[in-house]
Amino acid sequence: MPKLPEGAERPSPDEQLGRWLAGDPICPNTSDECCPDFSCCNPKLLSEPLVRKAFMQGSQGEREAWLGVFLGAAIQVWKTDKKVHMAGRDPTKTS
Ligand SMILES: [Zn+2]
Repeated sequence: MPKLPEGAERPSPDEQLGRWLAGDPICPNTSDECCPDFSCCNPKLLSEPLVRKAFMQGSQGEREAWLGVFLGAAIQVWKTDKKVHMAGRDPTKTS
């Protein structure tokens, strides 16, 4: 896993995005963040090069839309991979 070892120098958010664009996702960055598509934590989530490029060139609004897509994909993968219990309201309960 491309997790940085303890004490390793963290990339700045810009540097992290540059490496992510190049297909080398690592985290955390100096702001304790993951890559936009969380591929740093799960290589299965690495998006297509064209998608990464579109994200990098996108406006703030476009980036937010992509983040929603990435988050949805991440939730699907985490649910099937690790059987993560999603916190929140149980939709089968009415109260
Ligand atoms: Zn990560």
